[in-house]
Amino acid sequence: ATDPTGAAADRTPLSFELFPPRTDAAAIALGRTIDRLADVDPAFISVTFGAGGSTRDRSLTVLRYILENTDIEPMAHLTCVGSSHVEANELVRRFLDAGIRSFLALRGDPPVGADPDAPLGDLATASELVQLIHRVQQEREPFQQVAVAGNPGASRIRERSRTTRVAVAAFPSGHPRSKDLSQDVDILLAKEVAGSNLAITQLFWEADEYLGFVELARAAGVTMPILPGIMPTTTPARLARLAELTGVRPPADFALALERESDAAAQTELGIDFVTRLAAEVLEGGAPGLHLYTYNRHEAVLDVVDRLGIAAPRQLANERNFSR
Ligand code: FAD
Repeated sequence: ATDPTGAAADRTPLSFELFPPRTDAAAIALGRTIDRLADVDPAFISVTFGAGGSTRDRSLTVLRYILENTDIEPMAHLTCVGSSHVEANELVRRFLDAGIRSFLALRGDPPVGADPDAPLGDLATASELVQLIHRVQQEREPFQQVAVAGNPGASRIRERSRTTRVAVAAFPSGHPRSKDLSQDVDILLAKEVAGSNLAITQLFWEADEYLGFVELARAAGVTMPILPGIMPTTTPARLARLAELTGVRPPADFALALERESDAAAQTELGIDFVTRLAAEVLEGGAPGLHLYTYNRHEAVLDVVDRLGIAAPRQLANERNFSR
């Protein structure tokens, strides 16, 4: 079986997140970024999806680029908020038709200003989207003859989805709308029961938040790998914006240090250094890999990877593949 994190036995699995570019110039720059990210042989690259499908075609273009120009697995974020069953089915089919086999199934957020108690569409949670992805996939590629290990004469028909990964989101600091962390853990467990095989966390700023959440999740029965989502952040404005978007507050001393530093290069150094230490601590604590949010730039994330000493030079990775 494939390790859902994409782990090769001897190195730390890396993955990256991109968002679909808005202009042609940004698209060209993103092509270069993807090529550079490919140099460290990530397990997958995920591409975000605007809630309500606003970026559907642009997301698909980036996913196709990855599929056609690299040997990295593209992972499509999909959201279900506001969709009917028919629309959600159609959406999943469309991505499968494009050759995508890995998904990050999300509920998504209702439009800003919408009544928070208004109905969210036919699929109210990410768990339902996880089930739907498996069902659509199985309808298309229904059954496979699978040999039963240790019993060469026997074989049995069993349902086997060809989807490589159906990942879901996890919230180590709690989702802004959850009552307490135990609700987040329960919802994560429900996502695994629904069929997800990988969790990727919202950003966090303290290793103990991630490690404590993983401990709670394991105690509750979650067994899938929980990849820490790490975000190099090098300007005070972006740090403030992230806190607003995610509801996760950065440590006051880090925020203050960034604020006090007026030199851009020194700010970058502070941000990279902070996140490198955070990543090292979660790896030390047993994290199964790192999922790095890139802002569509390769410099900061590759700097972190380099400082951690976990980059697998592309050439060596290929040599390993070749000799397998
Ligand atoms: P769910 O798991 O369904 O629920 C999220 C939370 O809502 C739960 O933890 C719980 O606190 C609460 N909740 C759920 N059900 C109930 C209930 N019945 N009663 C009370 N509370 C409930 N958004 C996008 O639009 N596009 C993206 O590409 C995207 N990518 C993301 C990638 C990652 C790694 C993460 C962490 C988030 C991403 N998001 C994205 C944001 C995400 O869509 C929002 O955080 C959304 O609010 C929750 O989505 P979910 O899939 O976690 O939902």
